[in-house]
Amino acid sequence: MHSRNKLPVVVGGTNYYIESLLWRVLLNTAQEIEEPVDGGDEAANRKLELEKLGGAELHKRLAEVDPKMAAMLHPNDKRKIARSLQVHEETGVSHSRWLEEQRGQEGGDGLGGPLRYPDPCIFWLHADMDALDKRLDARVDEMLSAGLVEELRDFHVRYNQQKVQDDSQNYQHGIFQSIGFKEFHDYLAAPESSSQQEKDALRDKGIEALKIATRRYARKQNKWVRNRFLKRPGDNVPVVYGLDVTDVSRWEETVLNPALQILDSLSKSEEPDLQPIRVEGEQQRNKRSRHACDLCDKVIIGDLEWTAHLKSKKHHYHVRKRRKSDPAGDQSQVTAAPPASAAGTVGNVSKDSCAPVAPGCTETSQESSQDVRTSHKEVPVTFSE
Ligand SMILES: [Zn+2]
Repeated sequence: MHSRNKLPVVVGGTNYYIESLLWRVLLNTAQEIEEPVDGGDEAANRKLELEKLGGAELHKRLAEVDPKMAAMLHPNDKRKIARSLQVHEETGVSHSRWLEEQRGQEGGDGLGGPLRYPDPCIFWLHADMDALDKRLDARVDEMLSAGLVEELRDFHVRYNQQKVQDDSQNYQHGIFQSIGFKEFHDYLAAPESSSQQEKDALRDKGIEALKIATRRYARKQNKWVRNRFLKRPGDNVPVVYGLDVTDVSRWEETVLNPALQILDSLSKSEEPDLQPIRVEGEQQRNKRSRHACDLCDKVIIGDLEWTAHLKSKKHHYHVRKRRKSDPAGDQSQVTAAPPASAAGTVGNVSKDSCAPVAPGCTETSQESSQDVRTSHKEVPVTFSE
Protein backbone atom coordinates (compact mmCIF):
# COMPACT_ATOMS: atom_id res chain seq x y z
CA MET A 1 0.00 0.00 0.00
CA HIS A 2 2.87 2.33 0.78
CA SER A 3 4.39 1.76 -2.63
CA ARG A 4 1.10 2.78 -4.20
CA ASN A 5 1.28 5.92 -2.13
CA LYS A 6 -1.80 5.00 -0.16
CA LEU A 7 -2.21 5.66 3.50
CA PRO A 8 -3.34 2.53 5.34
CA VAL A 9 -5.82 3.23 8.11
CA VAL A 10 -6.51 0.48 10.59
CA VAL A 11 -9.61 0.80 12.71
CA GLY A 12 -10.22 -1.29 15.79
CA GLY A 13 -8.82 -4.77 16.18
CA THR A 14 -7.72 -6.65 19.25
CA ASN A 15 -4.75 -5.55 21.28
CA TYR A 16 -2.66 -8.44 20.03
CA TYR A 17 -3.49 -7.70 16.45
CA ILE A 18 -2.57 -4.03 16.76
CA GLU A 19 0.63 -4.89 18.60
CA SER A 20 1.79 -7.33 15.99
CA LEU A 21 1.00 -4.75 13.34
CA LEU A 22 3.02 -2.05 15.07
CA TRP A 23 5.99 -3.97 16.37
CA ARG A 24 8.22 -6.56 14.88
CA VAL A 25 8.21 -8.80 17.90
CA LEU A 26 10.87 -11.45 17.80
CA LEU A 27 9.62 -13.24 20.81
CA ASN A 28 6.38 -12.90 22.59
CA THR A 29 7.50 -12.43 26.16
CA ALA A 30 3.91 -13.25 27.10
CA GLN A 31 4.12 -11.73 30.53
CA GLU A 32 1.10 -9.59 29.88
CA ILE A 33 -0.89 -12.35 28.28
CA GLU A 34 -3.54 -13.48 30.68
CA GLU A 35 -6.00 -14.93 28.26
CA PRO A 36 -5.54 -18.36 26.80
CA VAL A 37 -4.47 -18.29 23.18
CA ASP A 38 -5.34 -20.98 20.66
CA GLY A 39 -2.75 -23.72 20.54
CA GLY A 40 -1.17 -22.47 23.71
CA ASP A 41 -2.58 -25.25 25.87
CA GLU A 42 0.51 -27.35 25.90
CA ALA A 43 2.78 -24.44 26.70
CA ALA A 44 0.41 -23.22 29.39
CA ASN A 45 0.34 -26.66 30.97
CA ARG A 46 4.09 -26.89 30.97
CA LYS A 47 4.27 -23.49 32.65
CA LEU A 48 1.86 -24.59 35.36
CA GLU A 49 3.84 -27.75 35.82
CA LEU A 50 7.00 -25.71 36.30
CA GLU A 51 5.35 -23.29 38.70
CA LYS A 52 4.47 -26.21 40.95
CA LEU A 53 8.16 -26.76 41.62
CA GLY A 54 8.31 -23.72 43.87
CA GLY A 55 10.27 -20.49 43.58
CA ALA A 56 13.59 -21.58 45.05
CA GLU A 57 13.93 -24.65 42.85
CA LEU A 58 12.86 -22.75 39.75
CA HIS A 59 15.27 -19.95 40.48
CA LYS A 60 18.08 -22.45 40.91
CA ARG A 61 17.28 -24.05 37.57
CA LEU A 62 17.10 -20.71 35.83
CA ALA A 63 20.39 -19.61 37.35
CA GLU A 64 21.98 -22.63 35.68
CA VAL A 65 20.71 -21.97 32.17
CA ASP A 66 20.23 -18.21 32.25
CA PRO A 67 22.09 -16.51 35.10
CA LYS A 68 21.42 -13.03 33.72
CA MET A 69 17.68 -13.49 33.78
CA ALA A 70 17.85 -15.16 37.18
CA ALA A 71 19.66 -12.11 38.55
CA MET A 72 16.79 -9.91 37.42
CA LEU A 73 14.03 -12.01 38.93
CA HIS A 74 13.12 -12.46 42.55
CA PRO A 75 12.93 -16.12 43.65
CA ASN A 76 9.29 -15.54 44.63
CA ASP A 77 8.38 -14.47 41.13
CA LYS A 78 7.44 -17.99 40.05
CA ARG A 79 5.42 -16.99 37.02
CA LYS A 80 8.20 -15.05 35.36
CA ILE A 81 10.90 -17.53 36.29
CA ALA A 82 8.80 -20.36 34.85
CA ARG A 83 8.25 -18.32 31.72
CA SER A 84 11.97 -17.73 31.28
CA LEU A 85 12.74 -21.37 31.84
CA GLN A 86 10.13 -22.27 29.29
CA VAL A 87 11.62 -19.94 26.71
CA HIS A 88 14.92 -21.69 27.18
CA GLU A 89 13.30 -25.12 26.94
CA GLU A 90 11.33 -24.26 23.84
CA THR A 91 14.01 -22.44 21.91
CA GLY A 92 17.28 -23.67 23.32
CA VAL A 93 18.32 -20.05 23.70
CA SER A 94 18.21 -18.19 26.99
CA HIS A 95 15.46 -15.67 27.57
CA SER A 96 17.93 -12.90 28.36
CA ARG A 97 19.64 -13.61 25.06
CA TRP A 98 16.33 -13.23 23.22
CA LEU A 99 15.62 -9.96 24.93
CA GLU A 100 19.10 -8.66 24.14
CA GLU A 101 18.62 -9.59 20.54
CA GLN A 102 15.35 -7.78 20.45
CA ARG A 103 16.82 -4.73 22.12
CA GLY A 104 19.75 -4.79 19.72
CA GLN A 105 17.49 -4.35 16.72
CA GLU A 106 17.32 -0.79 15.60
CA GLY A 107 14.78 1.01 17.74
CA GLY A 108 14.11 -1.92 20.01
CA ASP A 109 14.04 -1.14 23.70
CA GLY A 110 13.53 -4.55 25.25
CA LEU A 111 9.84 -4.09 25.94
CA GLY A 112 8.82 -4.84 22.39
CA GLY A 113 10.61 -5.18 19.11
CA PRO A 114 11.37 -2.32 16.77
CA LEU A 115 8.53 -0.64 14.92
CA ARG A 116 7.44 -2.51 11.83
CA TYR A 117 6.72 0.67 9.89
CA PRO A 118 8.28 4.07 10.47
CA ASP A 119 6.24 6.74 12.20
CA PRO A 120 2.82 5.26 12.73
CA CYS A 121 0.23 7.67 14.05
CA ILE A 122 -2.21 6.53 16.69
CA PHE A 123 -5.55 8.11 17.42
CA TRP A 124 -7.09 7.11 20.68
CA LEU A 125 -10.82 7.61 20.53
CA HIS A 126 -11.70 7.93 24.15
CA ALA A 127 -14.92 8.91 25.85
CA ASP A 128 -16.22 9.85 29.20
CA MET A 129 -16.76 6.57 31.05
CA ASP A 130 -20.47 7.19 31.77
CA ALA A 131 -21.15 8.01 28.16
CA LEU A 132 -19.18 4.99 27.05
CA ASP A 133 -21.03 2.63 29.40
CA LYS A 134 -24.37 3.82 28.05
CA ARG A 135 -23.17 3.32 24.53
CA LEU A 136 -21.90 -0.17 25.33
CA ASP A 137 -25.22 -1.13 26.91
CA ALA A 138 -27.05 0.19 23.87
CA ARG A 139 -24.79 -1.86 21.65
CA VAL A 140 -25.62 -5.01 23.57
CA ASP A 141 -29.34 -4.21 23.28
CA GLU A 142 -28.89 -3.71 19.56
CA MET A 143 -27.17 -7.05 19.21
CA LEU A 144 -30.02 -8.65 21.13
CA SER A 145 -32.67 -7.21 18.89
CA ALA A 146 -30.65 -8.29 15.87
CA GLY A 147 -31.07 -11.89 17.03
CA LEU A 148 -28.02 -12.54 19.20
CA VAL A 149 -29.77 -15.00 21.49
CA GLU A 150 -31.21 -17.02 18.59
CA GLU A 151 -27.77 -17.17 17.04
CA LEU A 152 -26.22 -18.31 20.31
CA ARG A 153 -28.90 -20.97 20.72
CA ASP A 154 -28.22 -22.29 17.25
CA PHE A 155 -24.49 -22.37 17.94
CA HIS A 156 -25.07 -24.00 21.30
CA VAL A 157 -27.16 -26.79 19.81
CA ARG A 158 -24.66 -27.48 17.06
CA TYR A 159 -21.34 -27.26 18.84
CA ASN A 160 -21.74 -26.91 22.56
CA GLN A 161 -24.64 -28.94 23.87
CA GLN A 162 -22.82 -32.26 23.68
CA LYS A 163 -19.80 -30.85 25.47
CA VAL A 164 -21.93 -29.46 28.24
CA GLN A 165 -23.72 -32.81 28.60
CA ASP A 166 -20.36 -34.59 28.75
CA ASP A 167 -19.22 -32.03 31.28
CA SER A 168 -16.16 -31.29 29.13
CA GLN A 169 -16.87 -27.63 28.46
CA ASN A 170 -15.08 -25.01 30.52
CA TYR A 171 -15.37 -22.03 28.15
CA GLN A 172 -11.62 -21.43 28.24
CA HIS A 173 -10.81 -22.30 24.67
CA GLY A 174 -11.21 -20.94 21.18
CA ILE A 175 -14.51 -19.42 20.21
CA PHE A 176 -16.15 -20.48 23.48
CA GLN A 177 -14.20 -17.95 25.49
CA SER A 178 -15.40 -14.99 23.45
CA ILE A 179 -17.56 -12.45 25.18
CA GLY A 180 -21.24 -13.20 24.74
CA PHE A 181 -21.31 -16.95 24.83
CA LYS A 182 -20.42 -18.22 28.26
CA GLU A 183 -22.59 -15.50 29.78
CA PHE A 184 -25.66 -17.28 28.41
CA HIS A 185 -24.63 -20.74 29.53
CA ASP A 186 -27.27 -21.07 32.24
CA TYR A 187 -29.98 -19.93 29.89
CA LEU A 188 -28.93 -22.11 26.96
CA ALA A 189 -28.36 -25.14 29.14
CA ALA A 190 -31.60 -24.73 31.07
CA PRO A 191 -33.62 -27.97 31.11
CA GLU A 192 -36.58 -28.22 28.74
CA SER A 193 -38.87 -28.55 31.72
CA SER A 194 -38.06 -25.04 33.01
CA SER A 195 -40.99 -22.65 33.09
CA GLN A 196 -41.09 -19.66 30.78
CA GLN A 197 -40.57 -17.45 33.82
CA GLU A 198 -37.42 -19.32 34.82
CA LYS A 199 -36.10 -19.12 31.28
CA ASP A 200 -36.77 -15.41 31.09
CA ALA A 201 -34.96 -14.82 34.36
CA LEU A 202 -31.91 -16.73 33.10
CA ARG A 203 -32.03 -14.81 29.85
CA ASP A 204 -32.05 -11.51 31.73
CA LYS A 205 -29.19 -12.71 33.87
CA GLY A 206 -27.24 -13.49 30.72
CA ILE A 207 -27.93 -10.06 29.28
CA GLU A 208 -26.74 -8.36 32.45
CA ALA A 209 -23.58 -10.50 32.54
CA LEU A 210 -22.91 -9.67 28.91
CA LYS A 211 -23.20 -5.95 29.61
CA ILE A 212 -20.82 -6.22 32.53
CA ALA A 213 -18.30 -8.22 30.51
CA THR A 214 -18.48 -5.69 27.69
CA ARG A 215 -17.78 -2.80 30.04
CA ARG A 216 -14.93 -4.69 31.62
CA TYR A 217 -13.43 -5.30 28.22
CA ALA A 218 -13.62 -1.59 27.36
CA ARG A 219 -11.76 -0.75 30.56
CA LYS A 220 -9.16 -3.33 29.77
CA GLN A 221 -8.59 -1.75 26.38
CA ASN A 222 -8.13 1.69 27.92
CA LYS A 223 -5.68 0.23 30.36
CA TRP A 224 -3.82 -1.31 27.48
CA VAL A 225 -3.45 2.07 25.77
CA ARG A 226 -2.09 3.55 28.99
CA ASN A 227 0.33 0.73 29.69
CA ARG A 228 1.49 0.03 26.21
CA PHE A 229 1.78 3.58 24.88
CA LEU A 230 1.37 6.36 27.38
CA LYS A 231 3.42 5.00 30.24
CA ARG A 232 6.17 3.72 28.05
CA PRO A 233 8.22 6.41 26.39
CA GLY A 234 10.84 5.23 23.96
CA ASP A 235 11.98 5.37 20.38
CA ASN A 236 9.81 2.49 19.37
CA VAL A 237 6.63 3.69 21.02
CA PRO A 238 4.44 5.74 18.71
CA VAL A 239 2.89 8.93 20.02
CA VAL A 240 -0.83 8.90 20.70
CA TYR A 241 -3.27 11.65 19.78
CA GLY A 242 -6.37 11.65 21.90
CA LEU A 243 -9.72 12.41 20.30
CA ASP A 244 -12.82 12.80 22.44
CA VAL A 245 -15.85 10.81 21.28
CA THR A 246 -18.04 11.49 24.29
CA ASP A 247 -20.51 13.48 22.21
CA VAL A 248 -20.91 11.70 18.86
CA SER A 249 -23.15 14.44 17.53
CA ARG A 250 -20.00 16.59 17.40
CA TRP A 251 -18.02 13.91 15.56
CA GLU A 252 -16.71 16.19 12.81
CA GLU A 253 -15.64 18.86 15.23
CA THR A 254 -14.05 16.68 17.90
CA VAL A 255 -12.79 13.72 15.91
CA LEU A 256 -12.77 13.91 12.15
CA ASN A 257 -11.38 17.40 11.59
CA PRO A 258 -8.66 17.25 14.23
CA ALA A 259 -7.59 13.83 12.91
CA LEU A 260 -7.39 15.13 9.35
CA GLN A 261 -5.42 18.17 10.48
CA ILE A 262 -2.95 16.01 12.34
CA LEU A 263 -2.45 13.74 9.34
CA ASP A 264 -2.06 16.72 7.07
CA SER A 265 0.63 18.26 9.29
CA LEU A 266 2.48 14.99 9.72
CA SER A 267 2.47 14.29 6.01
CA LYS A 268 4.21 17.65 5.51
CA SER A 269 6.62 16.91 8.34
CA GLU A 270 5.13 19.74 10.36
CA GLU A 271 4.19 19.63 13.98
CA PRO A 272 0.40 19.36 14.39
CA ASP A 273 -1.46 22.02 16.40
CA LEU A 274 -2.92 19.36 18.63
CA GLN A 275 -0.36 17.94 21.02
CA PRO A 276 -0.06 14.20 21.51
CA ILE A 277 -0.92 12.80 24.90
CA ARG A 278 2.16 12.91 27.04
CA VAL A 279 3.38 10.28 29.39
CA GLU A 280 1.06 10.44 32.29
CA GLY A 281 1.75 10.18 35.97
CA GLU A 282 5.10 9.63 37.50
CA GLN A 283 8.24 9.18 35.55
CA GLN A 284 9.07 5.77 34.35
CA ARG A 285 10.42 3.51 37.01
CA ASN A 286 12.74 0.71 36.40
CA LYS A 287 10.96 -2.40 37.54
CA ARG A 288 13.84 -4.71 36.82
CA SER A 289 16.80 -2.83 38.19
CA ARG A 290 18.98 -4.75 40.56
CA HIS A 291 20.11 -3.18 43.81
CA ALA A 292 22.40 -4.60 46.42
CA CYS A 293 22.46 -3.37 49.98
CA ASP A 294 25.77 -4.42 51.46
CA LEU A 295 24.80 -3.22 54.92
CA CYS A 296 21.78 -5.50 55.08
CA ASP A 297 23.33 -8.15 52.84
CA LYS A 298 20.30 -8.14 50.60
CA VAL A 299 19.52 -8.08 46.91
CA ILE A 300 16.48 -6.11 45.84
CA ILE A 301 14.86 -6.07 42.42
CA GLY A 302 13.04 -2.95 41.25
CA ASP A 303 13.33 0.76 41.99
CA LEU A 304 10.14 0.97 44.02
CA GLU A 305 11.16 -1.93 46.20
CA TRP A 306 14.59 -0.38 46.59
CA THR A 307 13.12 2.93 47.70
CA ALA A 308 10.98 1.08 50.21
CA HIS A 309 14.00 -0.77 51.49
CA LEU A 310 15.95 2.43 52.07
CA LYS A 311 13.10 3.70 54.19
CA SER A 312 12.68 0.50 56.14
CA LYS A 313 13.42 0.13 59.82
CA LYS A 314 15.67 -2.79 59.11
CA HIS A 315 17.87 -0.75 56.82
CA HIS A 316 18.02 2.17 59.28
CA TYR A 317 18.94 -0.26 62.00
CA HIS A 318 21.89 -1.52 59.96
CA VAL A 319 22.96 2.00 59.08
CA ARG A 320 23.04 2.94 62.80
CA LYS A 321 24.81 -0.28 63.70
CA ARG A 322 27.51 0.41 61.12
CA ARG A 323 27.98 3.93 62.49
CA LYS A 324 28.44 2.73 66.03
CA SER A 325 30.81 -0.07 65.22
CA ASP A 326 32.83 1.97 62.78
CA PRO A 327 32.47 5.68 63.58
CA ALA A 328 35.75 6.86 62.01
CA GLY A 329 36.78 4.18 59.56
CA ASP A 330 33.97 4.90 57.18
CA GLN A 331 34.41 8.64 57.25
CA SER A 332 34.67 9.30 53.55
CA GLN A 333 31.71 7.14 52.76
CA VAL A 334 29.56 8.56 55.50
CA THR A 335 30.23 12.19 54.69
CA ALA A 336 29.29 11.54 51.11
CA ALA A 337 26.04 10.05 52.27
CA PRO A 338 23.15 11.67 54.09
CA PRO A 339 22.71 11.13 57.82
CA ALA A 340 20.75 8.03 58.64
CA SER A 341 17.69 10.03 59.62
CA ALA A 342 17.55 11.59 56.18
CA ALA A 343 17.96 8.36 54.23
CA GLY A 344 14.21 8.13 53.76
CA THR A 345 14.10 11.55 52.17
CA VAL A 346 16.81 10.57 49.79
CA GLY A 347 14.84 7.47 48.91
CA ASN A 348 11.96 9.71 47.98
CA VAL A 349 13.74 11.53 45.23
CA SER A 350 14.62 8.34 43.46
CA LYS A 351 11.73 8.58 41.03
CA ASP A 352 14.10 9.25 38.20
CA SER A 353 16.32 6.49 36.95
CA CYS A 354 19.20 7.62 39.15
CA ALA A 355 19.10 5.63 42.30
CA PRO A 356 19.77 7.39 45.57
CA VAL A 357 23.18 6.99 47.06
CA ALA A 358 22.96 5.56 50.49
CA PRO A 359 25.72 4.33 52.74
CA GLY A 360 26.96 0.92 51.84
CA CYS A 361 24.61 0.42 48.95
CA THR A 362 25.29 -0.06 45.28
CA GLU A 363 23.00 -0.35 42.35
CA THR A 364 23.06 -1.23 38.71
CA SER A 365 20.46 -0.11 36.29
CA GLN A 366 19.33 -1.97 33.22
CA GLU A 367 17.49 0.78 31.53
CA SER A 368 18.73 3.97 30.03
CA SER A 369 17.43 7.07 28.37
CA GLN A 370 13.88 8.06 27.81
CA ASP A 371 12.67 10.48 25.25
CA VAL A 372 9.42 11.34 23.64
CA ARG A 373 9.23 12.08 20.00
CA THR A 374 7.23 14.91 18.62
CA SER A 375 7.78 14.82 14.89
CA HIS A 376 6.89 12.35 12.17
CA LYS A 377 7.36 11.95 8.48
CA GLU A 378 5.40 9.08 7.05
CA VAL A 379 2.06 8.24 8.44
CA PRO A 380 0.63 4.77 8.47
CA VAL A 381 -2.33 5.19 10.75
CA THR A 382 -3.81 3.10 13.44
CA PHE A 383 -7.15 3.99 14.86
CA SER A 384 -7.80 2.14 18.01
CA GLU A 385 -10.57 2.56 20.48
ZN1 LIG B 1 19.81 -1.93 53.54
